[in-house]
Amino acid sequence: MLISMGCSSVIKQCALACLWLSLFASPGLADTYPRQTKVDAVHYAFQITLNDENDEVTGQATITLRFTDAGVTEVALDLASASNGKGMTVVEVTSNNGRVTFKHEADRLVLSLPAPAQAGERRQFIVRYHGVPAGGLRMLKNKFGERVFFSENWPNNARQWLPMIDHPYDKATSEFIIIAPVKYQVVANGLLQEEIDLGDGRRLTHWKQDVPIASWLNAIGVAQFAVHHDGLVKGVPHQTWVYHQERTTGPAWFETRSRQAMEFYSEHIGPYSYEKLANVEAAGFGGGTEHASAIFYGENSILTRPDTGLIAHEIAHQWFGNSVTEKDWDDVWLSEGFATYFTLLVAEHYEGRDAFVAGLKRSRDQVFSLEKENPGTAVLHDNLADMKKVLNRIIYQKGGWTLHMLRQQMGTEKFWAGIRDYYQRYRNGSATTEDFRRVMEENSGLQLSWFFEQWLSRAGSPVIEGTWRYDVPTKRVVIELAQTQPGGVYRLPLEVGLTTEGGTKIEKIEFTQKQQRFELMADREPVTVALDPNTWVLMETRFGKR
Ligand SMILES: [Zn+2]
Repeated sequence: MLISMGCSSVIKQCALACLWLSLFASPGLADTYPRQTKVDAVHYAFQITLNDENDEVTGQATITLRFTDAGVTEVALDLASASNGKGMTVVEVTSNNGRVTFKHEADRLVLSLPAPAQAGERRQFIVRYHGVPAGGLRMLKNKFGERVFFSENWPNNARQWLPMIDHPYDKATSEFIIIAPVKYQVVANGLLQEEIDLGDGRRLTHWKQDVPIASWLNAIGVAQFAVHHDGLVKGVPHQTWVYHQERTTGPAWFETRSRQAMEFYSEHIGPYSYEKLANVEAAGFGGGTEHASAIFYGENSILTRPDTGLIAHEIAHQWFGNSVTEKDWDDVWLSEGFATYFTLLVAEHYEGRDAFVAGLKRSRDQVFSLEKENPGTAVLHDNLADMKKVLNRIIYQKGGWTLHMLRQQMGTEKFWAGIRDYYQRYRNGSATTEDFRRVMEENSGLQLSWFFEQWLSRAGSPVIEGTWRYDVPTKRVVIELAQTQPGGVYRLPLEVGLTTEGGTKIEKIEFTQKQQRFELMADREPVTVALDPNTWVLMETRFGKR
């Protein structure tokens, strides 16, 4: 997700030796959503009827659950209760043609099982309901004044109109059967199964996705679309859905950049996970939202503007966030930090190193100003309870920078090997920050707990002040550095660039103390000495000749 074009926990600090213990040795860092450990949502089939007269939806959800252990007598689904004319009213719940007793209050639909479940058993429940969504599915006018319908389930608004286990820990396959006035085209996740004119002014459109996804990644878009089928990219059907007024300009805006991003990620990370990719123009928000295989882009963020990485960002999420999903909201950087850095990697690949470094520097400046505006905010949430706070821009920019610094730690080749391994192991599943760390440690042979702790759990960034001078008698460049940020020291592997007329020589130092002096051999006095000349480290620097 990219919130508009300029989108929207603190861990106690201790000495380096014990840093890793505070995060990784204490299990149970988790947001506060109640997990049902014996229930696994396997598949959801939603039949939704929409109309042009009012905003009422009629729904029938067929939900397949698997019970991983015996003795379950109750299952809870999230579904907004009715109040003040909005929310959902449940008419009936059935299973095996028998009625199921249910209780629907405080946005939870609790089903009482007629008989306790057996371990390994699968059961289907059919929930019939109706109501006006208070969120989750928006019905509004687009920029041309035409009525449109777009879902907006992020982060936990699927429950506003779909009965689900509405948390990314339980991924499931899904299908949408949408009945709507015949003038509309309907896009959703997965593959188109059927389109039929019902003969009563309505059309039924059926999409089905056979790959499990997080609840919020389920999406429908209903509008008078122009649909452009752009053939295949790496064997994946590639489509553009724009408003019919923009049928000539829309596909051109999307397709080249989208193809590039698809090809780059497929080749460098691993195969794309879904049955198609649709880039969809949508109303009601800015930026983009990366629903699995059906990405929505805000109607005002596209077409008339240059693509400043928006497409690459949303497509990166198909790999990270959608296919490999954070198991927990605390680890949302595994989605947004990755999409931010991989957007820069696309720039590095297609536009070259200068564009890449320029992007890194812009991102670095953003981190520093964001950290000043939001002191005490680390990348990892600490038992997040308020879902309004799930995203902040530090997660994007510092999360992305953390991956860049990890690449420096591991070396580019091992970094990519680790990324591929991580994707392969957790593809279409869920992962934690600790899972990611373990994969990267295995691929590098490095112990990285200190690194993850330092950059993800700790708020703020290092501030480095220092000077250099050339000592003629000993032919040494003397560098004196201090870490002046509040709190303890960072462990900073740094490059130093010594530039003479003959070129630049890179030396490596390990800066780990509050104040530290380094002496580097140099036959002649350098013209300049630069700290981190290749832009590897997230730090504020004040450094010059003494
Ligand atoms: Zn994003």
